Amino acid sequence: ERLVGASADREDQAVEAALRPKDLDEFIGQEKVREQLDLVLRAARARGATADHVLLSGAPGLGKTTLSMIIAAEMGAPIRITSGPAIQHAGDLAAILSSLQEGEVLFLDEIHRMSRPAEEMLYMAMEDFRVDVIVGKGPGATAIPLELPPFTLVGATTRAGLLPPPLRDRFGFTAHMEFYEPAELQRVIHRSAHLLDVEIGSEGAAEIAGRSRGTPRIANRLLRRVRDYAQVKADGIITREIAGAALKVYEVDARGLDRLDRGVLEALIKLFGGGPVGLSTLAVAVGEERETVEEVAEPFLVREGLLARTPRGRVATPAAWAHLGLTPPRQSTG
Ligand code: ADP
Repeated sequence: ERLVGASADREDQAVEAALRPKDLDEFIGQEKVREQLDLVLRAARARGATADHVLLSGAPGLGKTTLSMIIAAEMGAPIRITSGPAIQHAGDLAAILSSLQEGEVLFLDEIHRMSRPAEEMLYMAMEDFRVDVIVGKGPGATAIPLELPPFTLVGATTRAGLLPPPLRDRFGFTAHMEFYEPAELQRVIHRSAHLLDVEIGSEGAAEIAGRSRGTPRIANRLLRRVRDYAQVKADGIITREIAGAALKVYEVDARGLDRLDRGVLEALIKLFGGGPVGLSTLAVAVGEERETVEEVAEPFLVREGLLARTPRGRVATPAAWAHLGLTPPRQSTG
């Protein structure tokens, strides 16, 4: 598992429940989303109605699961949590839908990875609160209509564009979750430190925030690793020096790059003069699979403006040279 990976590992899963904000006021950042969602939920409550279906799009670890729980809490409704990959057959979805209580929130993570038949069943369920359960096979098969209680679907996806338009259109409200600013992550870290009973100064929190890749989950994970270091090597208090020293041990640099990220940039610059170089060649040079370089390392490097994907191959930007403390060769500008 990568320390700066955005998906939840076992330890994250074990501690995240304790760190989740419980209502919209406690939810840090994402001002637009919070304001809009607050209106949607208030209006539904005032009408005594079930809230509209909500689509949350954004990278892993930005708070989609947390928001779905907040939606349920704000509506005073129970919540059921499942994911697209867990629903292989339309029957799996029918079983879940038919057991929902009135007003319940159904959180469907990775909704873009649901099977096609399940997706089609979901269209009707979202729109008419009804599903057709197919009984039997072949020419004798019959569709038995089943009424569902009104419910709120909260779908989560990494990118809204991954959803087929008919599914996207059935959500009353779509929220795009952005990466967090360092100042917001600093607040997340202070809040988590308080809940975990860890003493941290604002400079220590800033040091961790700057390396957290805009992602609360990573901020919380780095906080726990820095806490370990502070306990073993110091008096348990997280200062800027302690945070910096700890993250040096864990090889997470000042911009949140880890060994893999830096390995890619170093190969690109030191072996290929900054590129352009093909993905396969680059992958061999860092001793990793193509997929690892492309899917694990590159997205963040591209986002940070350190690496560019061009038709002729991967290129290190001037910022990448600067980050490694190197000077790019003079470019001909003619
Ligand atoms: P996602 O479902 O998008 O992968 P989660 O909702 O599981 O992300 O959030 C990951 C972790 O980050 C949780 O521990 C959660 O408490 C924390 N977190 C996410 N967003 C916020 C926020 N806005 N304020 C405080 N903590 C947050």
